[in-house]
Amino acid sequence: MSSIVYEEKAVNGLSQLGLAIAREHLDTASQLAAAEGWSYSHFLGYLLEGELAWRHEKTVRLSLQFSNLPYHKTLAEFDFTLQPSIDRRLVDELATGRFLSEARNLVLLGPPGVGKTHLAIALGMSTAQLGYRVYFTTALEMARRMARAMSEGKLTREMNNLVRPTLLIVDEVGYVALDSAQASLLFQVIAQRYDKGQPIILTSNKSFSEWSHVFAGDPVMASAALDRLLHRSTVINIRGESYRLKEKRKAGTTAAPTST
Ligand code: ADP
Ligand code: MG
Repeated sequence: MSSIVYEEKAVNGLSQLGLAIAREHLDTASQLAAAEGWSYSHFLGYLLEGELAWRHEKTVRLSLQFSNLPYHKTLAEFDFTLQPSIDRRLVDELATGRFLSEARNLVLLGPPGVGKTHLAIALGMSTAQLGYRVYFTTALEMARRMARAMSEGKLTREMNNLVRPTLLIVDEVGYVALDSAQASLLFQVIAQRYDKGQPIILTSNKSFSEWSHVFAGDPVMASAALDRLLHRSTVINIRGESYRLKEKRKAGTTAAPTST
């Protein structure tokens, strides 16, 4: 058969296989290959590279769309010099995504305003950039949604939504006291993700010793949840002062705290 027939087969074949980007680049790539004397595999690699890059971008875009992240903040926007209690190398290591395959949880503890949510979101974004699914929720939002799902007989589906994503971020655990039904739902999510080896990033303003309050005053459920959460985990305890207060002080609108 003539070259023209095969050229046509290439165009149609790429379309049929759903390789739209490679199809689009076929002519340019052929011209470049001829002009620069590429090997056949160089040519093929070039075509596939464009297709794969486009697919990855699409995956990341969909993951971010599905993520429910309240806003986008990156690690580059986090000023580590302001928060010396955080080991930057540890955070950079987390951003490689190794904790995902190791099913290692991350617990960010500390008072309000020290950057817990910012760091959780930034690691959520780096997870999405790696091509994984991530889902963000607060403890209260999650408990409310699950309670609604339960009353509508859709708890299994809601549970799947929380267990399936590669990474689940549960923000603000302990800010609002959960009732015992809500606490039990939070526990089920932690337990099911633990069983499936799916990691969680959790933020809280409560120290572990206060977790029985988090779990509606039930110390047994609290310690069962902590056992699973901390079995394979990294805990970052952020001390220090609220970033917003620091910023205000820099602007000269708040006085520095005086020691009494
Ligand atoms: P938390 O969740 O601990 O209450 P946030 O992450 O919501 O605190 O931080 C409050 C605000 O301050 C956010 O806008 C966040 O981006 C910003 N912020 C906190 N710490 C830092 C930091 N070290 N560098 C830059 N921005 C920060
Ligand atoms: Mg927060």
